Amino acid sequence: MATAGRSIPIAIRWEVIERDDCTCQYCGKKGTFVYRYSKPAVVENPNNIDIREVDFYNGSDVIAFEMDHVVPVSKGGKMSSDNLVLACRYCNRSKGDRDSDG
Ligand SMILES: [Zn+2]
Repeated sequence: MATAGRSIPIAIRWEVIERDDCTCQYCGKKGTFVYRYSKPAVVENPNNIDIREVDFYNGSDVIAFEMDHVVPVSKGGKMSSDNLVLACRYCNRSKGDRDSDG
């Protein structure tokens, strides 16, 4: 998957996270809102560690949700909240033909 060089503007991230209520739109898993690298983000935190004080949220303890393009950018999809849904890493990675930006 080619994801380099694209990033989702913070305003759009906010729209998607609020609209989708920190919930994976494919499996319904609810995540936790955090600031990750100073950007609004959603993570799975199955072990309930104190993620407010950590600046890196990906690994065995904490797994970041991703933003899935409904229509891939490579197929003309737009970089807008209408074309993005919140997806947990498992759901997003299980769909090999779509690209994403976490
Ligand atoms: Zn999911």
